[in-house]
Amino acid sequence: MTVPILDLRRSFSEIKPEVFAALERIFDAQSFILGSEVRNFEAHCEKYLELPENSAIGCASGTDALLLALMSLDVKPGDEVITTPFTFFATSGTIARLGAVPVFADIEPKTYNINLEQALSKITSRTKVFMPVHLFGQLCPIEEVIDEFHDKGIKIIEDSAQAFGAVRNVDGKILRAGTIGDVGCYSFFPTKNLGGCGDGGMVVTKDAKRAERLRRLRVHGSGKTYYHDEIGINSRLDAIQAAILDIKLQHLETWNAERRKIADFYKLLIKTNNLQEFITIPAELDGNYHIYHQYVVRVKAKRDELMTWLEEQGFSARVYYPLSLHLQPCFEYLGYKAGDFPESEKLSHEALALPIFPGLTEDEQAKLIESVAKFFRRK
Ligand SMILES: *Cc1c(COP(=O)(O)O)cnc(C)c1O
Repeated sequence: MTVPILDLRRSFSEIKPEVFAALERIFDAQSFILGSEVRNFEAHCEKYLELPENSAIGCASGTDALLLALMSLDVKPGDEVITTPFTFFATSGTIARLGAVPVFADIEPKTYNINLEQALSKITSRTKVFMPVHLFGQLCPIEEVIDEFHDKGIKIIEDSAQAFGAVRNVDGKILRAGTIGDVGCYSFFPTKNLGGCGDGGMVVTKDAKRAERLRRLRVHGSGKTYYHDEIGINSRLDAIQAAILDIKLQHLETWNAERRKIADFYKLLIKTNNLQEFITIPAELDGNYHIYHQYVVRVKAKRDELMTWLEEQGFSARVYYPLSLHLQPCFEYLGYKAGDFPESEKLSHEALALPIFPGLTEDEQAKLIESVAKFFRRK
């Protein structure tokens, strides 16, 4: 048996006829950039996320969503943006791309999300934005600190690239990833829970003026064609991606629920195989509806050996992320060193993602965990 880290073919087979019908419609129309397909998908996202009309702006990628969000908040060279060192590169890459300074705060060891108390302690007179990430599909409880940031005039951009559809229940109030702060950013990269057949992304904001500005920024800053109010970028969602994503959006709740079932079964398997002394399963914070973009466990020792062993037995596992961002060569100029963020660094040595995707079978999970047990029990 071989189990891949991700097999998109399994969920795609459910929607193939619908997707091919949509492709035929678009090729017949020969209209590929923005247009009604994109507006239609944006409107469905607004409804799904319980956002006002025209608050969702499709763009070319999750990275561009972050870049556009920062631009829409006038982030300029020298401004500081507080964020996590344990995330995909784009979170800090976009900050640095604008000449702003990523200021890191360490993570919570249980949820892997940014430590909010430490984030607050990093505020200076230059802090412009707080950019938390809802990592691996679990909401960071940012509602606890929003007022403190806002009181100091600091805006909040949620990197929700891994969390489209993740929610958090706070005293009966449902908070949706990407809609809690000032601007929310999503990625539709094919591997994400809502993934297209190519690159894609989206920015959302409840502020109508900012939404209008974002809509301009994605087309070179032009409101009226060929008249430019400010300098934007070229970052549009294309009609083909929008149409495919619109079909997938209708299946997202089912697929996310399936991921949760897979996570539950891993939990059971790790317990019944008595692996708790070797492996710590990911924690779900009270009130959270974790959508398990990744199922990342901690392996206390011999993580890399275990990964090699699994690969040899036909089971894929991956490391997200092997090097904390404050130690990346490209960020040497920021002046951080090893030991600055011990929790993030520790996790980069222990994290291991196991396969999780709609269509993964219990039998495949059981065989994989049996193989993990064999690794730790062999002498
Ligand atoms: C995927 C991802 C991005 C970037 O999205 P792209 O669509 O690949 O550009 C940004 N932040 C996080 C946390 C991501 O996982």
